[in-house]
Amino acid sequence: MTYSYKQELLEQLENGSLPEIDPSNRFTFECKNQCMGRCCNSITILLDPWDVEIMARHLGMSGQKFLAQYCKYEFNNQLKWPYVRLKHAEDGPCIFMLEDGRCEIYPVRSRNCRTYPIGRAVRFEQDGTKSERIFVVEKMGFCLGHKSEKTWTVEEWFADAQCEKFYELSDLYLEVIHYATTQLNSQAWSNENIARMMLPLLYGPDVLRGKLGISEEEVSHEDFYRRRMKALKVILTDIAAGFGFGPNAGEVFSGSLMERMKEVLVTG
Ligand code: SF4
Ligand code: SF4
Repeated sequence: MTYSYKQELLEQLENGSLPEIDPSNRFTFECKNQCMGRCCNSITILLDPWDVEIMARHLGMSGQKFLAQYCKYEFNNQLKWPYVRLKHAEDGPCIFMLEDGRCEIYPVRSRNCRTYPIGRAVRFEQDGTKSERIFVVEKMGFCLGHKSEKTWTVEEWFADAQCEKFYELSDLYLEVIHYATTQLNSQAWSNENIARMMLPLLYGPDVLRGKLGISEEEVSHEDFYRRRMKALKVILTDIAAGFGFGPNAGEVFSGSLMERMKEVLVTG
């Protein structure tokens, strides 16, 4: 569902039925106290690995525990890729919504939570070039924010929501998905077992740090995230080679995938 929704958005942007806007464009919006939290009900909040990491850190728990407690895990059969979504927000009021409608984890709310009513879609070309498309998300009838007279440029809105780091790190993950699906033809060989093998790299930095003895003093959590994304690419390339796909197709590697992953995580 989430994957087809993203595809739909890209198609609408492509055919012009969803108008693209420019970072310098102005729009009118302001979050209103009167409807605080109406938008945090029965909604799909897709979380990427960076969202999970900073939310889990903020709550002082491991990535796995956060996943078990707050997320729904899904293997998308079309893309052959795992996804996680905030489970409570889908089934009613988000578990992080306080009684007065404010967000309990506001400083670390997800990328998607922080930019409404502006959306951003990223597209990678065959050669890996990235382009971003910005658009106004479909208006929610109950949202009083649209009645405000406060105006912003999209740039100002993104700066206020402090999205820059989220976008940069989230795009690293999108790039891995793009690489796997286009260069490695992962849809031809990926399956639920392979996806489960990827889970520590995606959502379990604590487990990996524990196993490899890498402290945060040695490698910051942001750098470790970058290493995890790099390691993911390396091991997916090795797996694809075993199935006869990707740049190393046909090559035989000595050593285990675990060793390959360790090498990247330890040395960067
Ligand atoms: S103004 Fe809109 S975005 Fe803000 S809390 Fe109300 S419903 Fe949500
Ligand atoms: S995480 Fe916060 S902003 Fe996002 S849906 Fe939940 S309460 Fe709303």
